[in-house]
Amino acid sequence: EAATVPPPGDSSGGIENLVIIGSGPAGYTAAIYAARANLKPVVFEGYQVGGVPGGQLMTTTEVENFPGFPDGITGPDLMDRIRRQAERWGAELFQEDVEFIDVQHNPFIVHSSERKVKCHSLIIATGATAKRLRLPREDEFWSRGISACAICDGASPLFKGQVLAVVGGGDTATEEALYLTKYARHVHLLVRRNQLRASKAMQDRVLNNPNITVHFNTEAVDVVSNSRDQMSGVLVKRVDTGEESVLELKGLFYGIGHTPNSHLLEGQIELDSSGYIIVKEGTSKTSVEGVFAAGDVQDHEWRQAVTAAGSGCVAALSVERYLVANN
Ligand code: FAD
Repeated sequence: EAATVPPPGDSSGGIENLVIIGSGPAGYTAAIYAARANLKPVVFEGYQVGGVPGGQLMTTTEVENFPGFPDGITGPDLMDRIRRQAERWGAELFQEDVEFIDVQHNPFIVHSSERKVKCHSLIIATGATAKRLRLPREDEFWSRGISACAICDGASPLFKGQVLAVVGGGDTATEEALYLTKYARHVHLLVRRNQLRASKAMQDRVLNNPNITVHFNTEAVDVVSNSRDQMSGVLVKRVDTGEESVLELKGLFYGIGHTPNSHLLEGQIELDSSGYIIVKEGTSKTSVEGVFAAGDVQDHEWRQAVTAAGSGCVAALSVERYLVANN
């Protein structure tokens, strides 16, 4: 049942209570909670990923770790369900990219490709984008051999018991490689430089693990496959000698980081040196009062659908409190 709290903000004078930017698990979950609290949220869904809303999970096949789906669910199906839930409770959804915001004064101003909206509060849930190597056959094998998330895909039948490789030399890549040793027969770590950038502790764990072979000065050149269904290996090149060879394996994991979708916010709210929104610890509050952040755009550590959804919930509940306190 919808909460009995009356709409605290004033959406009658052309000023919305809440605008949510983003349509991943964080944005839609925030929309569900805000709509159920009668805040009548306006959601800008964006169309960055292939012209469809829904965020990163639209680019994947099976999601096996979202609670409530014991048999797994496809990413697009999951996002369609969360979207419909937000719509059912009255969130107003616009499939438009936000191009500009002004949060220097309240009411804030949000410009999309189609309209200008004023609002008392804002939730930024614009997500992040996994960095890609742009291998020639990358699109063909994305989510079908190439993955950007070991925690999400490591236990998949596609990879279990197989030889796999991870690309990268930082903390993400070393963590992914160690994680994959739980399931894989063997893991190759492809490091472009002649050393690892990960913390000393992580370096030691990787270099001393008999199930991981570290290849320094080595980059992935392309996927090797004779069929369209499964990769059989990866063509790698030594960057120092130019020598090429094929590593036989069934999965390639990218551990080269993510780019937060925060370009829009530069100069408006506080970002860290990598572009992630800085939130006050344990909250969804940004450096601007009334502006809240949720999901991967403020999380460089966990990056899971369920953590994004959880933080979307926190952001919406925080907005509700904020509007009550400032009414
Ligand atoms: P996102 O999902 O990134 O969504 C952000 C949305 O905001 C996008 O729709 C984007 O178009 C929109 N947006 C951005 N800028 C604007 C703008 N200016 N205006 C309007 N809209 C904008 N996690 C799991 O828990 N389990 C898995 O199995 C799993 N598999 C994955 C597989 C792949 C291939 C990838 C890439 C990720 C996977 N993840 C998985 C991670 C998970 O997808 C993310 O943690 C989650 O989607 C983050 O949610 P989010 O709401 O923060 O942002």
